[in-house]
Formats: sequence, C-alpha cells, structure tokens
Amino acid sequence: MTLLPTGKLIINGQMRDAQSGKTYEDISPWTGATIAHVADASAADVEEAIASARHAFDTSDWSRDHQKRVGLVQKLLDLFIANRDRLVAIARDEVGSANGMVLWAQVDNALKCWQDLIDLFPRVQFEKDFGDVNVGGRVSRRRGFLEAVGVVGAITPWNFPFFVNAEKVVSGLLAGCTVILKPAPDTPLAGTIFGELAIEAGFPAGVLNVITGSDPALAGEMLVRDPRVDLITFTGSTGVGKRIMREGADTMKRVFLELGGKSANIVLEDEPNFAQVVGQSILIFHAGQGCAVQSRLLVPKSRYEEAKAVLKASYEAYADAWGHYDDPHGIMGPVISRRQQERIKDYIHLGVEEGATLLVGGNLRLDKGDGWFVEPTCFVDVRNDMRIAQEEIFGPVLVVIPYEDDDDAVRIANESPFGLSGGVWSGDIDRAMRVAHRIRTGNVSVNGGMSMGGDLPFGGYKQSGIGRAWGVEGIEEYLETKVIGSVEAKA
Ligand code: NAD
Repeated sequence: MTLLPTGKLIINGQMRDAQSGKTYEDISPWTGATIAHVADASAADVEEAIASARHAFDTSDWSRDHQKRVGLVQKLLDLFIANRDRLVAIARDEVGSANGMVLWAQVDNALKCWQDLIDLFPRVQFEKDFGDVNVGGRVSRRRGFLEAVGVVGAITPWNFPFFVNAEKVVSGLLAGCTVILKPAPDTPLAGTIFGELAIEAGFPAGVLNVITGSDPALAGEMLVRDPRVDLITFTGSTGVGKRIMREGADTMKRVFLELGGKSANIVLEDEPNFAQVVGQSILIFHAGQGCAVQSRLLVPKSRYEEAKAVLKASYEAYADAWGHYDDPHGIMGPVISRRQQERIKDYIHLGVEEGATLLVGGNLRLDKGDGWFVEPTCFVDVRNDMRIAQEEIFGPVLVVIPYEDDDDAVRIANESPFGLSGGVWSGDIDRAMRVAHRIRTGNVSVNGGMSMGGDLPFGGYKQSGIGRAWGVEGIEEYLETKVIGSVEAKA
C-alpha cells in the first residue's frame, strides 16, 4: 500500500491548505487504513474558488483563444502520461481498483478518451452560417457563434474518478470555460492531481480550481446555488442529481447530469454461445461499481434452468479469484467504503425478504482483510418489480430475470426508472438490432459491441440523466449558442 502525498486545494493557480488548516483522512478501501491527509475545504475556500474562476473567465481571453486552450490541454495530458505511476497508485490504493483493471479501465482508458476529445475538437463548429434573409429590403446576414457557457462547477463520483474528472475538466476547458472541480470525498487525490499538473503545465490562474472536503454536500451545494457559477456538470446518484436540479432552479442553472443506471443485458434464446455469454455476465467488474454495468440479466424462460447452472459454475470458478491486492490480473477488489458495504448488505437482505433466491454469495467477507469486501452475489427467481431489480445497488450483485419472448424482454428492460445502458445477444443480428432500437437507453451494446469511447456521446434517458458526455456532443454541453444577425451592406 502506497502512502500518498498530502492533498492540497488548488485555487487561483496556488496549491495550498484549507484556510482553517483542517485536513481529513483519505482511507484505502483495501485496508481501511489512512493513506493520505487531504485539505478539508470550508465555505471560505469554496467562495475563493468561485471568485477565482469567475475572475479568470471574465477578465482573460481564455474563452476566445482556442489554440492556446488546445495546447495547454494537450500539455496537461502529456504531464498525466508522464505521471502514470502516480495515477496507478491512486487508482489502486485510493479508488480500490484491482490491478487487472487499474491500467486499462481506470487510467489508460481515461487518458485515451482525453486524447480523443483533443483530436475531435476541430469538429466542434464554433461558427454556423444560417444564410441571408431579406426583410423589407434590408438584408441580414445571420450567423451562429458557440460560446463558452462560463464558470463550470464539476461535481464527480468515486468509481472511475480519472475518467469522469477528465470528461468534465477537459470538455469544459476545451469549450473555453473555467472550471471548479469538486471530487468525491472518498477519492480526493484523483481530483487534486488535475489542479497540481495544470499549474505545472502553465494554465492561467483561476482557470482550473480543485476543492476537496470531507463533507459530501457543502461545496457542491455552494456551487449549485451561486449565481456566479453558470453550469453544474454532475455525475453521481439520481437522488443528488434531482436535488441539484431543484436547488439550481433559483439561478436557472444549466445542469448536465450523468446519473445512475440499472441496465439490462438481454440474452435471446437463439444466442449460439449461450453458455459463454451467460457465464461471462457475472457482475464482478470493479465490484459492480459502474453506472453502466449490466446489473439485470434477462434470460428466456425456456433456458432459465440452463442459465442458472451456467451462472453457478461461473461464480464458483471465480470464487477465489477476487479481492487480492497483489494479483496482477484481478478485476474485483473491495467496494469503496464501509458505508457502501453496509448499503449493499442491506440490499442483499432486502432481496431475500422480497422472495428472490440467492444463487451464490450474499456475504461481507471480513476474512479478506480490514477493507470493505463484499462477495460476488447473484439472485435468481427475481421479478422486475422487486426493489433489487428497480434500484441501483452499485455493488457486485446481479439479478437474473426470466422473460417469455422478445416483446416481454423489451418490456422488462424498459420498466425501469433508469435508461443508461444495455446489451442484446442473438445469433440473428437483425433481430438483435430490432430489440436494441426498442430499448430506452442512451447506449446499447449488441453482441458485445463497444458503445462507449471518448469520441462517442454517452448519457442517459429517463432518470439516468440529462445531456451527453464525451464526443463533440460532450463538448457542446459546455457551450451556449449566440445568433447575430447583421446588416453589412448599408444603403
Ligand atoms: P453521490 O451522488 O453520492 O455523490 C456524487 C458527488 O456529489 C460527490 O462528489 C458528492 O460529494 C457530491 N454530493 C453529495 N451530496 C451533494 C449535494 N447535496 N449537492 C451537491 N453535491 C453533492 O454518488 P457517488 O456515491 O459518489 O457515486 C455513485 C453514483 O454515481 C451511482 O449512482 C452511479 O450510477 C453514479 N455514476 C454515474 C455515472 C454516469 O455517467 N451516469 C458515472 C459514474 C457514476
């Protein structure tokens, strides 16, 4: 376990302690031990960060100098790549990622998607020609200009913090905004490194500020309510997202929300590799802590018993392969915190009370160490109206739901408050595509196809959010449209 450097606030181009001098403990999910101390911002620090971001936006050419921004954002990325070892240590020890996914899922994927944003930036159309119109002999030339929305408050979660922080910071900065990043209290160092390296890259003071704190709500609520902040970009739970919408109404805040999910993976009965597809659906990836994980597995009633047997064997084969800090290939470690561990435990109890059958798992695993371990768990005989099928558990808990036919599978997939992601498997691509078109979610994978990437818009229908992250669409979330109609040839 690496001891990490003390986390500082980054405000107005300075790395510094909280005004109060207070710090809080950054705890590793692997051991429950303190791995760093981090500045614990108070309202006075948040106030300073907002003032600094506002000043930088209003008084500099940051929003207008596209080339300067692209150059600095690339330089920041280069510094991240040069500091990859630090990113790896943070992803493993602070975020609690297993080694096998630290690089590709936590670190390198974030850096690759960051490069994607830089590469596609030339495709953002900052000017649009709407043509001329002649009204009463006066010819107006009509043009649209996309302009940075202003000061952005970026509030982020702990599960894939480099990926989510990069999406918000990089898209916002490329668009010409100034940014205040507020990382989750559990993963502060995955946020402060953005500010620290931005200073090293030579970013103008105030353009990127980072505030850490032990109180999950204090800084975020200040950002949401403050009229000097123009847009809140938030990734997190649907409950907090709703609160942000309500609290932001007074200042008519632009809100861009990436929220929870309960995505369905539909295996159609003609899937030729049925056993393989079902067997690989066990929910172990980062201990199920992903907004887009497919946490509802939908299998045909006609093959339900077969699916249960395959799943049981697959979980048994994996029984000892998780929760090992040193395993270079592991993809499942602990969950983020004791609070989250308790929450998952409550959901497992609820599933049993609701009448679902525990096929495997169901226990906290104190034998794995002093961290927050929950074993891979699978419920079968689940009805879609049970709370374990409707609510986001955000842990390694898969629910398996039987369906009658394609229409029934689509109905079950869509009977959810969420609409983030999903999957369809079939031997008949046309049939799979027909089902995919009917699923009400922002992203769908057909036969394992990749529907996420730095160059692809990602986001939710229904209560999974508003707006799209990544891709050209993701940068455009941070832009406003201004139309100017000008009479250029005066009589
Ligand atoms: P969370 O909603 O508890 O917290 C997210 C962030 O909001 C944290 O920084 C937290 O400190 C802050 N926050 C908490 N209360 C706040 C308030 N009242 N006002 C303003 N900010 C507040 O979520 P979490 O537990 O950190 O993350 C897990 C959730 O994030 C899951 O629901 C998951 O689905 C979601 N998530 C979604 C996506 C996506 O792209 N859709 C990606 C990753 C995670």
